[in-house]
Amino acid sequence: MKLVYLDNNATTKVAPEALEAMLPYLTEEYGNPSSIYDLAHKSNTAIKEAREVMADFLGAGDPKEIIFTSCGSESANTAVKGILEINRNKKHIITTKVEHPCVLNLYKDLEKKGYSVSWIDVDTNGDLDIGQLLESVTPDTALVSVMMANNETGTIYPVDKIAQAVKMQNPETKVFVDGVQAAGKIPLDLKNTKIDMFGISGHKFHAPKGIGALYVKSGTMLSPLIIGGHQERGKRAGTENVPYIVAMAAAAKLAKENMNDELTRVKALRDKLERGILSKIKNAVLNSKSKNRVPNTTNIGFQYVEGELILLHLNDEGICASSGSACTSGSLEPSHVLRAQGVPFTSLHGSIRFSLSRYTTQEDVDYTLEKLPAIIEKIVKISPFQKELKEIFK
Ligand code: PLP
Repeated sequence: MKLVYLDNNATTKVAPEALEAMLPYLTEEYGNPSSIYDLAHKSNTAIKEAREVMADFLGAGDPKEIIFTSCGSESANTAVKGILEINRNKKHIITTKVEHPCVLNLYKDLEKKGYSVSWIDVDTNGDLDIGQLLESVTPDTALVSVMMANNETGTIYPVDKIAQAVKMQNPETKVFVDGVQAAGKIPLDLKNTKIDMFGISGHKFHAPKGIGALYVKSGTMLSPLIIGGHQERGKRAGTENVPYIVAMAAAAKLAKENMNDELTRVKALRDKLERGILSKIKNAVLNSKSKNRVPNTTNIGFQYVEGELILLHLNDEGICASSGSACTSGSLEPSHVLRAQGVPFTSLHGSIRFSLSRYTTQEDVDYTLEKLPAIIEKIVKISPFQKELKEIFK
């Protein structure tokens, strides 16, 4: 059966080039980068080169600003806990209602531990209330934390402008950006921003799962989350994962080279898929309504039907998509992102995210547009909301 993978915000296929780059470090080049002999030197050099590539990928001013971590969640935890530990006298945090669970649940936990958290709203398009955010900054604000691109809707938040405005209100407030869904999809130039810390995850841009990075602007004091050896300039202990670091750098290089393809071809495919669904299926409504979106993502609600059922039928046709962030799928709780956006209950439970990548083809989109209308038609027939659906389909 054909496999159409439209769940690239959950994870991506490892690029063959990334796999090839890492293989020597899983076989003959196994030296510990901290040792002194030639074998180790090769691992050490590989990390040094990878750090330079990652700095270039993120537009960092200096490779020393890159810390390798194990994933996006670790990058976020390292940034947030590391900053709060340094600024123990400040107890106020500002974040949004639409962050990924790895950030959201971290702040819920910190609330229990005595921090006060301001949760910023989004409007019905998914755009952030920046006025509310700036009004919330006080002398006690240790941290402002806003994601760059939303994993469920693809909405881009103007983190550069936000960081600049926050620093004008309180120059001591630190800014952390969860950049996991932005890296590889839109150009980044961190050196020309006021962002202090920026977290990414390799498996979202065709590196393996289990590797991430955190950008920490030069001069930013950060207490380490993982205490131990001197690796990563004392900011993250533990023997470096050389093969995965090398693979992530290879994937980052490719993503940068392919940025134009992402912004044009992938976007055109996403738009074709979106337009096709909205025109072919009468109970389909667009949830990804912001004008500022990453090029690969769309989120569409299907009124009065159950999202899980749509996913199961899509799976039967070999199509992979998602009904929310991968971490919350499996629970029947509707998406906190779509709820924050005020998506009505009529389409909240039937919302599906389609996320493309540079490996997505015209045929993938055409196949999905061929299969999905029949799937929805089938599910509509068994919905308990026949009266409402009759109105929509008349
Ligand atoms: N932040 C965002 C926006 C994400 O989409 C994800 C993963 O889905 C993460 C953070 C967590 O990344 P990881 O799975 O590498 O921990």
